[in-house]
Amino acid sequence: MNTPLHALSNADLHCHSVVSDGTLTPELLAARAKAHGVELWALTDHDEIGGQQRAINAARAQGLPYITGVEVSVTFAGKVVHIVGLGFDHTNEQLQSGLRATRGGRGARAQDMSDDLARAGIPGAYEGALKYAGNPELISRTHFARFLVESGHCTDVPEVFRRYLTEGKPGFVPHKWATLADTVRWIREAGGLAVIAHPGRYGFTPTEEYALITEFIAHGGRGIEVVTGSHTAADVLQYTDTALEFDLLASRGSDFHSPAESRVDLGKLEDHLSGRLTPVWSVLGDRIHWPSAH
Ligand code: AMP
Ligand code: MN
Ligand code: MN
Ligand code: MN
Repeated sequence: MNTPLHALSNADLHCHSVVSDGTLTPELLAARAKAHGVELWALTDHDEIGGQQRAINAARAQGLPYITGVEVSVTFAGKVVHIVGLGFDHTNEQLQSGLRATRGGRGARAQDMSDDLARAGIPGAYEGALKYAGNPELISRTHFARFLVESGHCTDVPEVFRRYLTEGKPGFVPHKWATLADTVRWIREAGGLAVIAHPGRYGFTPTEEYALITEFIAHGGRGIEVVTGSHTAADVLQYTDTALEFDLLASRGSDFHSPAESRVDLGKLEDHLSGRLTPVWSVLGDRIHWPSAH
């Protein structure tokens, strides 16, 4: 029996597979979600929906309700913001071509990152990172981080981000991602719902955050992640209030990437959405791929 929507609590609507910078396949993630008691799952690879059909099929095989997902990299006010799309038609051509365009700059950026690291005394990083990229179109900082750990330059992935690959550090290359307006439009016009991912991570001032949320809503964005693997308990309380203040739907997801790297495993978030919030899934019922009649 599938859990009815109003009773659903263990939704995990944010994670990554080998199609972007996760280490597990969509099939292994579906099995892990099922084993960990997930009642509604979404795979949200960065800037890529090429894994969606596999995730739909794998979820069905596991008897797991599924909703399509993506996490789009956006440049806003000179910083990178992530927007999650949920419940879109993954065959939509505008969404596919928009994402293809935004992925297009990753190859040259990776070469520049590698050149910068070489100047800092770390040769061969492009080739090293590429070995970890399950999808060569989606070479990301995470793949560089895995190479820097493997080659002994750092002991773990968080250390790589502290010492390299972030603003002001060797290996950081500024990049222009998609706009907020285009991203929300692609998601909406493909029938989906746009959600601001892990708002607690951006380090925005209150004024910048207000600008992000009001522009997002003006473009038709509807949701915000409240419970995520990136949020502290204080963040959860803060963004519960933010969701209520701006009348945003609330989302929940681990942001799981890898058993060895992620702080929160798939389906293992401890916090639940406050009963005062309206969960995103309450309006996505007709977008859910149910595994069987319910
Ligand atoms: P990219 O899209 O290539 O800029 O890579 C961004 C990815 O790097 C994120 O999706 C995370 O998976 C990872 N990442 C960013 N910052 C950190 C951090 N401080 N620690 C660990 N992983 C990080
Ligand atoms: Mn990632
Ligand atoms: Mn993110
Ligand atoms: Mn993510």
